[in-house]
Amino acid sequence: MGIFEKLKSGLAKTHDNIFAKVDKLVYGKSKVDDGIIDQIEEILLSSDVGVQTTEILIENLKKRVKEEKFERTDELNRILKDELKKVFIEAIASINGFKIEKKPYIVMIVGVNGVGKTTSIGKLAYNFKNAGHSVLIAAADTFRAAANEQLETWAKRAGCEIIQLTQGSDPGAVVYNAISSASANNYDVVLIDTAGRLHTKTNLMEELKKVKRVIQKLMPDAPHEILLVIDATTGQNGVNQAKEFASAIGLTGLILTKLDGTAKGGIVLRISSELKIPVKYIGVGEQIDDLQIFDKGSFVKALIED
Ligand code: GDP
Ligand code: MG
Repeated sequence: MGIFEKLKSGLAKTHDNIFAKVDKLVYGKSKVDDGIIDQIEEILLSSDVGVQTTEILIENLKKRVKEEKFERTDELNRILKDELKKVFIEAIASINGFKIEKKPYIVMIVGVNGVGKTTSIGKLAYNFKNAGHSVLIAAADTFRAAANEQLETWAKRAGCEIIQLTQGSDPGAVVYNAISSASANNYDVVLIDTAGRLHTKTNLMEELKKVKRVIQKLMPDAPHEILLVIDATTGQNGVNQAKEFASAIGLTGLILTKLDGTAKGGIVLRISSELKIPVKYIGVGEQIDDLQIFDKGSFVKALIED
């Protein structure tokens, strides 16, 4: 499957949630009335586009229906697509992944448990390897017993090296070793996996701040990226996580995972407009080639196209 087809199939649930529902809504009705518009509002909210955006969309929709006299219901999906496109393109801050501007380029991956940090690191490593960059993975989630093993499997799949210490080691020590080794061996990228939950008394944010300080001792301008991984199926929770991580350690971007598993793919838009943090990558499946650089043009096209 091509990249665009993958994206489209990943967004199929979200697409259906909006357009199949609108089709069903207007079926058998001949005129666009306020009742229909109200229900479209509900449909948009259910795909997690966000209240603000939904309001703008509904307002525009009403205006167009009135001005252009689109009274026929079979026109409604087309106008909705038109309006969605306009609002989406405007609201989504487009940042296409990141450029490796420095060597080694230090990328810290953070997020709560189970959102897809380790998986995304495997996929990112694979992407960078394919683009001709050398990648070193730092296994700084030292709290979970199975974490090293899982990351090692991904490193093998991606064909890159990994730095790890025994379970329970100081994550700062892992990061110290990894960055020293990356500098000495001329690596292009260091991807740092971190814990999402701690089984110790240590606070997660404090632990992450400490890891950041260790990085900065070795490279004052690093980490060059701090990417928060958010599970797209979590809605408001994901938005709250972004706020918390942003205020505790700062974020340069987001990786939104599991878009393939949700009908609420509108969350991309909501996060972009509410948080003003760019979505840099999206996960559309569990395989190694299922991480895509986020491109709003393709995203909107894949979402809207039948
Ligand atoms: P972590 O705790 O944040 O490191 O999360 P993991 O990387 O271990 O992933 C948790 C689960 O989410 C795993 O079962 C992954 O296969 C799954 N996962 C991660 N990204 C995606 C994605 O984009 N789509 C789907 N469908 N599943 C994903
Ligand atoms: Mg993990």
